Amino acid sequence: MKHSELLKIANDFGSPLYIYDAHKIESQFNRLKNAFKNVKNVKINYAAKALSNISVLKFLNTLGSGLDTVSIQEVKLGLLAGFKPEHIIYTPNGVSLEEIEEVAKLGVQINIDNLSILEQFGNKHPDIPVCIRINPHVMAGGNTNISVGHIDSKFGISIHQIPHILRIVENTKMRINGIHMHTGSDILDIDVFIYASEILFETAKNFTDLEFIDFGSGFKVPYKEGDIETNIEEFGKKLTSRFQEFCKNYGRELTLAFEPGKFLVSEAGFFLAKVNVVKQTTSTVFAQIDSGFNHLIRPMLYGSQHEILNISNPNGRERFYSVVGYICETDTFANNRRINEINEGDILAFKNAGAYCFTMSSNYNSRYRPAEVLWYNNKAHLIRKRETFDDLLNNQIAVDIEKKKTVVKK
Ligand SMILES: *Cc1c(COP(=O)(O)O)cnc(C)c1O
Repeated sequence: MKHSELLKIANDFGSPLYIYDAHKIESQFNRLKNAFKNVKNVKINYAAKALSNISVLKFLNTLGSGLDTVSIQEVKLGLLAGFKPEHIIYTPNGVSLEEIEEVAKLGVQINIDNLSILEQFGNKHPDIPVCIRINPHVMAGGNTNISVGHIDSKFGISIHQIPHILRIVENTKMRINGIHMHTGSDILDIDVFIYASEILFETAKNFTDLEFIDFGSGFKVPYKEGDIETNIEEFGKKLTSRFQEFCKNYGRELTLAFEPGKFLVSEAGFFLAKVNVVKQTTSTVFAQIDSGFNHLIRPMLYGSQHEILNISNPNGRERFYSVVGYICETDTFANNRRINEINEGDILAFKNAGAYCFTMSSNYNSRYRPAEVLWYNNKAHLIRKRETFDDLLNNQIAVDIEKKKTVVKK
């Protein structure tokens, strides 16, 4: 999106504000789809937790995406957005059997990641097919090293417990229709990911009723200059050939599934905030914006570096700033960053603000969460109103506690 467009939207809707460029979501979706064009059945299930605004979900549904969900609430949002239940996969971690049963009743694909629930679910519902989340214990290193890691991870069922899984399946007569992995780490090295995929293929051979193999996510997008980006096209070529080979040996065309969040929506998002104060100390120039980690916590939580542009003064002389928020706690977005000269009242644009930004926002300091705008066909659509004072009080109950009178016995 052009700076002038972003600035106009900030003027129209106020700050702080999230803007998502639907065209970018569409082009990322098509890029991934295209990388696997030689696989007959490909399913891209967008990971709702990255950005779960219902209008964004509706847009992804129109693109032909499925949905990856981690809570029953995300499932319900997906259904409301128009996803068919069979296009939703539910991959929870550590939730109750009751919630899983409720989701299964909605017709959604269940993905189970521990032996205890697998056994309980299989005993009660042998007719409902389930997918199993495997932990391949493979972790990508900085180069071609393949390290065995995540042995302590709370996610997935360890590949070392396959015999136990098979015993449960045999005893309960349940049907396993999918095998899944999501290591949660970035795909920095395609060969490491392919190595993990081989483990998944090996695991898959144990199950005769499979319909799909789900390779999770981990697609990396660049956040700052010099960042590595997963080479989707090369990745597509390599995995396609291995997948086709597997299907041939398995004797059936399976569906290849992915569940990207970040890859689809990160770069589509911009977070716009206004500079309230430029504060010069003896060592630093602070630009203080009308926001904080209540609206964008990734820099503080993960140390992520979001590029920051001064869209009010894009040609100004570059100077060094520390960009901080208004929260009464340290909330540093950027340390000593080179940015075009900032004046009070300028609008700063944070890039890569589509994934895990609004969805992780809060009301800390009793501030309102920002509004959200979806940009499509040269039009800004408001998709979430800015909160108001009533929203802060919603669900609160004002109780007058009477002070107990102390009776003094004589
Ligand atoms: C969060 C999550 C994803 C999405 O991960 P990204 O890094 O955003 O692509 C996919 N699958 C599962 C099970 C997840 O929990």
